[in-house]
Amino acid sequence: MLSIGSNLGDRLAHLQSVVDDLGARVAAVSPVYETDAWGGVEQDAFLNAVLIADDPALDGYGWLRRGQTLEAAARRVREVHWGPRTLDVDVICCRDDNGVELLCSERDLTLPHPHAHERAFVLIPWLAADPDAELSGRPVADLLAELAAEERAGVRRTDLSLAR
Ligand code: ATP
Ligand code: CA
Ligand code: CA
Repeated sequence: MLSIGSNLGDRLAHLQSVVDDLGARVAAVSPVYETDAWGGVEQDAFLNAVLIADDPALDGYGWLRRGQTLEAAARRVREVHWGPRTLDVDVICCRDDNGVELLCSERDLTLPHPHAHERAFVLIPWLAADPDAELSGRPVADLLAELAAEERAGVRRTDLSLAR
């Protein structure tokens, strides 16, 4: 499961570039949400979505590298700009052929993503793409219910959508 976000340039086009690259590997796409950026820095809101993708040839590092390649491609287009991200691709979790969640705690790859369970901009789109989603054995719906109402309210559904 990938979480994708953009708050610079043509935000929707940056998200769409990931769907286009993954092609037939994409099993489900969430709606697109708008999320206020955290922190005190004045910057545009993010567009966020999640993709459920399937490729038996890719393990956790394979997905990480694929995401980093796409980030680099998106950054090159906007390299004159500073600060906010044109594209962020985070690997939230990976499952093996038997559906068992992979665990990884290397310096450059943590699976599942250590902040996924506390981020409404990950959980809300994920639940929309897969109402039965689970993270480390817990229903995503339950994780979402545990978040503060204001965290959930900061994630707003848009009329935008990603084309498969
Ligand atoms: P966050 O991970 O808290 O959302 P970020 O997305 O802003 O922060 P980046 O600067 O995009 O962080 O990534 C920093 C490093 O995180 C990357 O170089 C990557 O190797 C590492 N990383 C570790 N685990 C993951 C993961 N599950 N998905 C993506 N990157 C990861
Ligand atoms: Ca991130
Ligand atoms: Ca990242």
